[in-house]
Amino acid sequence: MQETSVNAWNTFLQFIQKSISETEFENWFSQINLVEHTDDRYVLKVPNIFVQQYLLENYKKELASFLPLDEKKQPCIEFVIEEPKAQEKKTPTTPFIQEVKKEQKLRLNPLYTFDHFIEGPSNQFVKSAAFGVAQAPGKSFNPLFIHGGVGLGKTHLMHAIGHTVLEKHKKLKIECITTEAFINDLVNSLKNKSVDKIKRHYRSLDVLLVDDIQFLQNRINFEEEFCNMFEALINQNKQIVITSDKPPSHLKLSERMTQRMEWGLVANIGVPDLETRVAIIQHKSELKGCNISEQIAFYIAERIHQNVRQIEGAINRLCAFAHIMHHPITLDMVMSTLKELLEQVTPKLVSIDSIIDSVCTTFEISKSQIKGSSRQKEIAKARQIAMYLAKEMLEGSLNQIASHFGGKTHSTLLHAWKKICQEIQKDETLKRQIEMVQKNLSQ
Ligand code: ADP
Ligand code: MG
Repeated sequence: MQETSVNAWNTFLQFIQKSISETEFENWFSQINLVEHTDDRYVLKVPNIFVQQYLLENYKKELASFLPLDEKKQPCIEFVIEEPKAQEKKTPTTPFIQEVKKEQKLRLNPLYTFDHFIEGPSNQFVKSAAFGVAQAPGKSFNPLFIHGGVGLGKTHLMHAIGHTVLEKHKKLKIECITTEAFINDLVNSLKNKSVDKIKRHYRSLDVLLVDDIQFLQNRINFEEEFCNMFEALINQNKQIVITSDKPPSHLKLSERMTQRMEWGLVANIGVPDLETRVAIIQHKSELKGCNISEQIAFYIAERIHQNVRQIEGAINRLCAFAHIMHHPITLDMVMSTLKELLEQVTPKLVSIDSIIDSVCTTFEISKSQIKGSSRQKEIAKARQIAMYLAKEMLEGSLNQIASHFGGKTHSTLLHAWKKICQEIQKDETLKRQIEMVQKNLSQ
């Protein structure tokens, strides 16, 4: 009988293993142990509630079809949560480390918590990953690499992880630093001849949050040091979270570093869609004790779309104005208070035609050339740039955008986008040309 129970769970595992990635299986299922089993009772040991939720929320149907069900048609599973292992005691041995410990107040923004992070399709995945990491540091995705454009919530999510770790894992030693601060620490330690101490300090952490890793580019010595520290921590299953404005492969870093950063989970944080932006506006204004109607929230969200920090700037300005003037926020007030900001961020509605026009003017070629299929170098390059900008700046499916280029396919568009993404990193002239096309767009 017991044999059957083991097989049922194993069969379930075998089935799951085939249907998900190796990393996902390793990250989640390898942490679940069947500790007791009869024909109608399965006791699973999990390291934390998060793994339990993950299993129940994502594999309910599969569990129900492999394991026996109770009267309520629910799989007969009981969970026990593993007792947390006692943390190794790391008594500071030198005055220096004591000093660091005292100073080790994490400078986390109190408002950057998971509760204040508004979810939408563009950030749901990365938020769940960050949440998972915060619940079980070192046990799910390691490292977690979050990348995305400016003002889209990377630092917010990283601090949210910090808050949760501080609250839920009080014994863990955590540090949240910007890449610049890390470099400064190293520079100072070189001056003070205390490099070993600083290295020891970083290597004794349980959780390391590093913001804006792009600043490690072109700092070869520091990169190597960072990479050594990174490996030392990861090898001990210590959690690392990194943010960046680009994915690892687009950073000008050594292959070793790039590969290391791709070891765990690389997650993108995108531009929030209209509804999410509206929800952010309403949430942020409530936090400020300020009431913004839905109509006004939409008005702002439709006009500021690329950067949540700018949205926040607009809300701050409006709320301050309303507060000082003792005046409710009206559309007129929005238009006059935010006039400059809105003109700045929404110079003109960008359309596929305006991108194509601007590329044609900048590169002195005709529209028919850009939409045609000539492989002549200059024309092909201009076409790729137009495709790149269209994908970057417009919403809509790839196929839809591609169809404007004489009926090309989404894979051609994607290929062009990737190529320009790579080249733009190395080629300053290309970068300036693209900026010129963008500038022409906004006139
Ligand atoms: P990044 O580090 O990606 O440049 P930040 O994390 O500093 O961006 O975010 C910029 C501002 O926008 C912060 O005030 C942050 O709270 C806010 N923000 C970004 N995304 C969200 C979101 N999804 N929900 C709530 N606030 C957000
Ligand atoms: Mg940031």
